[in-house]
Amino acid sequence: MSEHLMQTYARLPVAFTRGEGVWLYDENGDKYLDALAGVAVNGLGHAHPKLTKALCAQAGTLIHTSNIYRIPAQEQLADKLCALSGMDRVFFCNSGAEANEAAIKLARLHGHNRGIDNPAIVVMEKSFHGRTLATLSATGNRKVQAGFEPLVGGFVRVPFGDADAVAQLAARHNNIVAVLVEPFQGEGGVQIPEAGYLDKLRAICDKNEWLLMLDEVQTGIGRTGTWFAFQHTHIVPDVMTLAKGLGSGVPIGACLAHGVAADAFTPGKHGSTFGGNPFACTAAMTTLNIMVEEGLLENALKIGAFIRETLSKELGQVPGVKEIRGQGLMIGIELDKPCGELVKLALAEKLLINVTADNVVRLLPPLVMSQDEAALLTDKLAALIWAWLN
Ligand SMILES: *Cc1c(COP(=O)(O)O)cnc(C)c1O
Repeated sequence: MSEHLMQTYARLPVAFTRGEGVWLYDENGDKYLDALAGVAVNGLGHAHPKLTKALCAQAGTLIHTSNIYRIPAQEQLADKLCALSGMDRVFFCNSGAEANEAAIKLARLHGHNRGIDNPAIVVMEKSFHGRTLATLSATGNRKVQAGFEPLVGGFVRVPFGDADAVAQLAARHNNIVAVLVEPFQGEGGVQIPEAGYLDKLRAICDKNEWLLMLDEVQTGIGRTGTWFAFQHTHIVPDVMTLAKGLGSGVPIGACLAHGVAADAFTPGKHGSTFGGNPFACTAAMTTLNIMVEEGLLENALKIGAFIRETLSKELGQVPGVKEIRGQGLMIGIELDKPCGELVKLALAEKLLINVTADNVVRLLPPLVMSQDEAALLTDKLAALIWAWLN
């Protein structure tokens, strides 16, 4: 391994040279079943022929021009995302952290416009919003923050899933302008709040004139079986952020806004050199079109339910397995002790999985996964977890 990379990752000793669908091939030609999809990025699987074709054509036409000029591909993608979500306007950037930075700036600007000159944003314990200074400050995980103090101020933290705790803040703070929350927490251990949580947050935000800002960087773009996780409810957020699955691996992030929030930014208030360039927008638009053509939302619901049911049958009664939970193809298996070493054991079995929050095995398979491939996954994984626990 090169000595010239900053040591930000403890990488596994494997490198992939090509992929096809849910399969990745390493330098020896060995084949791995991918149940992580580049951390919820490769929804279409690897080397999807239609995406490859569209990207090759776009690369040969125009990659980048800058936001100094109109970008038709960006305008079309904004129209499409608004049609799918019910939002009004989109700002494009290049990652999830940047999308959340845009949301945080938007909320502060909205606050200042309303005469609140020290605006605060409510955030959650165990949340993850990114690695930039503002987003790591919003993140509810000390490991992400340690060593980077002083943190960015202006965040008020409450437990995830506790709408009453949010409601109670209204009496204690007169400078709150927004609530930033993941509909289902990803890095925090695939945490699914009680039904009605988002509806309650929506009502609290309406009552207090706060913006409801959903971080759908991981849950968005079909991951949970709807385009966006909030579509499992009847609410619409004021702000929503996207990234991971949007460009199928071509970096693109988006901050969408609805209603009054959509008018907060005016020229000069925010920007991005690369954001929404023709290449990235082609990747995203093609991804969305392929998802419709191939019925990937329905597939995520069906295959997700199959994986959870199968794992529940095989592991539900096994001592050491606390809970099997998830929504669509965002699945967590919580064990009663830290289980990071399962990642290496799975790798040896040619299976790619992830462990988050110390003791939660996380599956984020490509949305194109077939039932046969899902059965392979559950067979291998159940055997592995069973053996490790016994
Ligand atoms: C991954 C993730 C981010 C950060 O995205 P980057 O593209 O790595 O900056 C933010 N929020 C959530 C919920 C995520 O899962």
